[in-house]
Amino acid sequence: MNIYLSQLVKLSKIDNELDEFEPKINEIKSDLNKLQFEENEFVLSIKSSRDMKLDEELNNRKNELHILELNEKLKDISRKTGNVKTQREAKALALEEEISREQIVFANEEIIRIDKIIEHKEFEIEEIDEKLIELRKEIDKTLIDVNEKLSYLEIERTKIEVSKNELVEKIPQKIFEFYQKIKKWAKNTTVVPVKKQACYGCFLKIDNNNYAELIKGDDIRNCPHCGRILYLEPVTE
Ligand SMILES: [Zn+2]
Repeated sequence: MNIYLSQLVKLSKIDNELDEFEPKINEIKSDLNKLQFEENEFVLSIKSSRDMKLDEELNNRKNELHILELNEKLKDISRKTGNVKTQREAKALALEEEISREQIVFANEEIIRIDKIIEHKEFEIEEIDEKLIELRKEIDKTLIDVNEKLSYLEIERTKIEVSKNELVEKIPQKIFEFYQKIKKWAKNTTVVPVKKQACYGCFLKIDNNNYAELIKGDDIRNCPHCGRILYLEPVTE
């Protein structure tokens, strides 16, 4: 085989190996990503429960203040009741007093109802907090495992990159650029074998003339149909 062609066959195999790293890395990280997503969901849900709890606490402060105001009003009414001159005035004050007392009852009921909501929110927060603690333990463990696997992959990748650089240095610039140009669109099928006189990139048959040239192996040849770089199997290196 043409020496440059055999270099390109080798180079494309190395490039394909390098391309396989990214899906491998994503696969390794996928469990961790899921756990971290879940962690984020828990954090958001705790935050939202805390906000709701704060709102309800504020509502109860308002209710308490309202009761204080109503009690002041009742005192005021009772003072005025001592000084009434007409029956009409007395009636009006009695009505006002009744309304204020009803409002106090209602505000107290509200406080009890809201206290229950606050209690429930506290319970929710505590529950999610416990889950979060367990989840973070799992994340820490997974992280150690992931980092170990990633650093192993990184070592492997560096080794392959070193061998790629060594190979690229040997390949004439023009041939390397020619390869890169096809690789842009052909990706991991830039250099493909010919089997049963067919291109293994586009799977079309190579005509007899081109096939004869390919067998001669003097030049680097492209598939006449798709333009990928062709080589004859089996490869002897
Ligand atoms: Zn082809």
